[in-house]
Amino acid sequence: MNELKRSMLNPVAPIGIGTPDVESMVSYFCRVAMSHCISANDLGREVVRTMRWDYSSRFRWFHVQMSGMSEAAENWVYALSKLTGVSELESLTLLPLRGVVAMSLPRIASARWCPCCIAEDRTTNRKPYFRLAWDVGVVTACPKHEIKLVEACPTCEGSNTRHASAFVMPGWCTSCGAFFGGDSANEHVKATKEEVWVASQIGAMLAGEGTLASAPTLATLRSTIQRLIDCMDDGKSAVFARRLGLGKTILHHWLTGAGAPSLAGLLRIASATGLTLPKLLSGDLPDWQPGNGEMRDLDSVLAKPRKYAARQVRDWDDIRTTLLALADSSPVVSVAEAARSLKVSRRELYCNAKVEARALGKRWIEENRLRGEQSRQIATDAIKAAYTEISASGKSVNLRGLLEHMPAKVFGRLRNPVALLREIREGEI
Ligand SMILES: [Zn+2]
Ligand SMILES: [Zn+2]
Repeated sequence: MNELKRSMLNPVAPIGIGTPDVESMVSYFCRVAMSHCISANDLGREVVRTMRWDYSSRFRWFHVQMSGMSEAAENWVYALSKLTGVSELESLTLLPLRGVVAMSLPRIASARWCPCCIAEDRTTNRKPYFRLAWDVGVVTACPKHEIKLVEACPTCEGSNTRHASAFVMPGWCTSCGAFFGGDSANEHVKATKEEVWVASQIGAMLAGEGTLASAPTLATLRSTIQRLIDCMDDGKSAVFARRLGLGKTILHHWLTGAGAPSLAGLLRIASATGLTLPKLLSGDLPDWQPGNGEMRDLDSVLAKPRKYAARQVRDWDDIRTTLLALADSSPVVSVAEAARSLKVSRRELYCNAKVEARALGKRWIEENRLRGEQSRQIATDAIKAAYTEISASGKSVNLRGLLEHMPAKVFGRLRNPVALLREIREGEI
């Protein structure tokens, strides 16, 4: 690797290391691509070529779970650190917990975000970015805004539109180009207190990743759990397992088996003992007193191992009536939103209440079109003004220049900044 020039890529600064809002590697990658005004796909290919990796020609950058704890994540962190000259990129992933905690990441197609955080990025004049916490499977809420994370575009309702695309500008839909931000927490589904607790524990854990002097180890974690069992239940692990709401064999496996404890399991331990997740992971017990834990209904948030929820019987007549009422109400909600509040999937809605779901979807699109037309006019005027201003100063016009010249609020109304960039690059404006 000696022939690689350091800082071949712009040394983009990662956001929020050492805080619960730490950026994800996926987000960082997109921002590096943007800083060079190239697509994420082109950046991916360039990195593969420079590192001389053997990837197939069908490789797409978003097929790699860059924020996770796999070997692939490790390779991409290494490459990006090398090429940008920026260290600490491991803190944008779950790599520091590899081998210590077992956890799953949501499927790439279900990438989530908090609309209020995204909106806040714009209002504080920061470029919107994806938080690492959004890519941790057990996190379903934003602890700051106490709302559920969303995974469907509020405008086109498409899922898989956060970053699974060749060209990504974090914060804007890769399918329709609409802004993901929505500033009022009241417009979004409120999270339960259990979801908020889980999300804030994960936030604290990720904040700790960037600041801990030494990385947590499985041996320390196991001896900490053993000490908790000794203190709270006289060493009786079966009693402790009951306290957590788990089977004793699972706990036994975590203590002695080949695998690491699951993140969901550690959250149960944190909840039952009153330790925070970072303290549990680092074995920081000096101030801890047995019995000061607060039991929460974690079953509502965390899946129980080896137990599956019974299939629910739905009252479709009732659901159809609700959908019709929703299509008539104002402001209208999306089909995805209706599905979430009715606790069914969108697919089920379209299968069992086709006419009603379509009516609601149609109404939603109409209302968005109206809103979009007004917004677009305002945004178009602003682009024209910014364009004239930049040209007058003798600079060439690119997306970064436009972003800096346009008021943040107005930029949020742009329907498709990605397409705009393409047009600029192709010299059509
Ligand atoms: Zn938020
Ligand atoms: Zn969209």
